[in-house]
Amino acid sequence: MHRDMSKTWDVIIIGGGPAGSTAASTLRQAGRSVLVLEKAKFPRFHIGESLLPYNRAVFDELGVWSKIQSAGFMVKRGAQFWMGDGSRRTRLDFSKGSFTKFPESIQVERAKFDNILLRHAEELGADVREEAIVTDYRVEKDGVAVKYRTQDSGEQEVQAKFLMDASGLGNVTANKEGLRDYYPGHKKLAIFGHYSGVQMSEGEEKGDILVIRRENSWFWMIPLEDDKVSVGLVIDQADFKALQQEPQQVFDDAVASTKTVHERMLNAKVITQGHVLTDFSYTNRKLVSNRLVRVGDASGFIDPVFSSGVMLAMTSGREGAQVVHAAIAASKSLTFAMRRYEWATRRRVSRFWQFIENFYTKPFAQLFFQPTNKHRILCAINTSLAGNTQMSFGVWWRLRLFFTLVWLQKKGLPVTERISIQ
Ligand SMILES: Cc1cc2nc3c(=O)[nH]c(=O)nc-3n(C[C@H](O)[C@H](O)[C@H](O)COP(=O)(O)OP(=O)(O)OC[C@H]3O[C@@H](n4cnc5c(N)ncnc54)[C@H](O)[C@@H]3O)c2cc1C
Repeated sequence: MHRDMSKTWDVIIIGGGPAGSTAASTLRQAGRSVLVLEKAKFPRFHIGESLLPYNRAVFDELGVWSKIQSAGFMVKRGAQFWMGDGSRRTRLDFSKGSFTKFPESIQVERAKFDNILLRHAEELGADVREEAIVTDYRVEKDGVAVKYRTQDSGEQEVQAKFLMDASGLGNVTANKEGLRDYYPGHKKLAIFGHYSGVQMSEGEEKGDILVIRRENSWFWMIPLEDDKVSVGLVIDQADFKALQQEPQQVFDDAVASTKTVHERMLNAKVITQGHVLTDFSYTNRKLVSNRLVRVGDASGFIDPVFSSGVMLAMTSGREGAQVVHAAIAASKSLTFAMRRYEWATRRRVSRFWQFIENFYTKPFAQLFFQPTNKHRILCAINTSLAGNTQMSFGVWWRLRLFFTLVWLQKKGLPVTERISIQ
């Protein structure tokens, strides 16, 4: 093993996805030296293609928005939620949420999008090493030592003042420290692919994501280009196992039995299919410790239904890097600001968690698919699902009212008609 003692970086970041590259750019903007160790060679395929309007705030802060804009990604103006049988739909038009600051977002092929972010970090001066797999790390009194492996030069060890873990579902440091907890009752599996010839919305609604709710599972349909759509099925692992079929067979059968999806995919042709992901819903018991901060999915991930992953990853990447920068400036290994970062990150996630855990229940669906904008409740839902996690009092009480109505519906009070969900 080669030990590189010639340089001590300010920060080493594991992973060059949206969280890692955001952290790297932020640290470079603050004048810190940064080494990003990324396992893959970019551009690389990744799931997580539908972004939220409030992601724009981070793009602007990083100074990367003009690069993203000129890449010509599909503009996303709304999110459509359908019942599987096509009988009802609720559309959130982001420009109409009266509390919503950002009226639109984008749908992205992650290979291209992540590459723009990583190259941006590199242009700001981050040292990016691809095909470099982090294999181990040690936190010492004065710094951290990180081991990584490349095919060309074997195992190496590098050192820094701080380590940021942005390894996504790889969850490198929390796995090593045994900090991962899965959400009980929320064990999901996703089967997905890219298709051409899928019939999607037109006009203003052309770039909308479609979320199609079935009784115990749901589909996403994300238009990536004029003739390329990402289609995925999210299903309980237990239900999947009980079917005893190959993933693609489960996916095809679900398409065939879901009117809203089936009709749109009558002339679909496969571009890629059969991708499977599992065990993606978890939380880590600690996000910060001496000289170590976890960001993005490496801090935890819940569920993709409201497309919150990239926005949360980039926001935590940015805020995590800011507290690391401040800790280095103060020559500290663990600061109050780092603990506050952990609290703020968990609070942001919890904003989505209340929607996610309710999404899978019938009372929520009954209210959601028969929406009312009385007291501007729908506007409050709109801004929250656009990614506005710093909610004003006006949004807060409206959401409380909405979830109280969901609770009353669950308790049997006739808040709204008890439609069947399928
Ligand atoms: C089925 C599914 C659908 C989703 N859909 C959406 C969606 O529509 N919209 C949305 O916003 N989010 C979605 N997400 C979530 C989104 O994919 C993630 O939240 C987002 O990618 C997190 O970014 P990240 O930078 O934290 O991690 P990643 O993007 O996963 O990046 C982590 C990087 O770390 C690297 N790495 C891992 N281990 C090591 C190692 N040992 N050494 C070096 N490098 C390493 C990996 O190669 C990777 O490039 C979805 C997730 C799932 C599971």
